[in-house]
Amino acid sequence: MNYKSFIQFKNRIFSNRVISIGIPTVLFLTFSLTIKAQPTFDPLPYPYDALESFIDKTTMEIHYDKHYRAYYQNFVKTLKEEDLTEISIESLFSDVSKRNVSIRNNGGGFYNHKLFWEIMSPNGGGVPEGELLRAIVGEFGTFEAFKQQFEKAALGRFGSGWAWLSVDATGKLFISSTPNQDNPLMDVAEKRGIPILGLDVWEHAYYLRYQNRRAEYVSNFWNVVNWKAVSEKYKQTKVSK
Ligand code: MN
Repeated sequence: MNYKSFIQFKNRIFSNRVISIGIPTVLFLTFSLTIKAQPTFDPLPYPYDALESFIDKTTMEIHYDKHYRAYYQNFVKTLKEEDLTEISIESLFSDVSKRNVSIRNNGGGFYNHKLFWEIMSPNGGGVPEGELLRAIVGEFGTFEAFKQQFEKAALGRFGSGWAWLSVDATGKLFISSTPNQDNPLMDVAEKRGIPILGLDVWEHAYYLRYQNRRAEYVSNFWNVVNWKAVSEKYKQTKVSK
């Protein structure tokens, strides 16, 4: 139904002219605001062998095309089954403890990996700039101290999980770790916030090259961090307040 025929249809229902002026606009606005984009499986923004200084091509290929794809496909399937296609992923996570566990595991897997691919780049590494650097130094003392605390969170996670840099409700940065595919947006997380940097410490992320040497994997991560992308995510947390 196009807009003109919708108006005609609506005018048949609301014969009162005064009511009819405002109704279509309001309905359309409400409708367009509640539609949420479906998760999409976008191509990796760089070749599988682009991050060799951190992670090998085979690991990257299996990680992206097998693990990530499975989380995505299972998440989409659950969204359809549960009729949740019009709810934002952030809303789903905010009461994830009350939902189908697939939202937590596969939705988390989809969201966490998407962020992970975005915050890495073959041209990454170095030090963040501007507002983000000031916030990191303000919160952790120095950039080196921040890295140490983040590495401690990544190494301290027993078994599978993630290390995060996030922004809390007051706008402050904090470091945390979550098990499995949980993340700081979820109501099950000890510390809640919006993640802007995440490191996957599941063995599937590093075992081929590093075997049991998680510390080496974690310290090499800094070679590929895309600080421009992290800074952009940091700025977005300010806008969304
Ligand atoms: Mn992974």
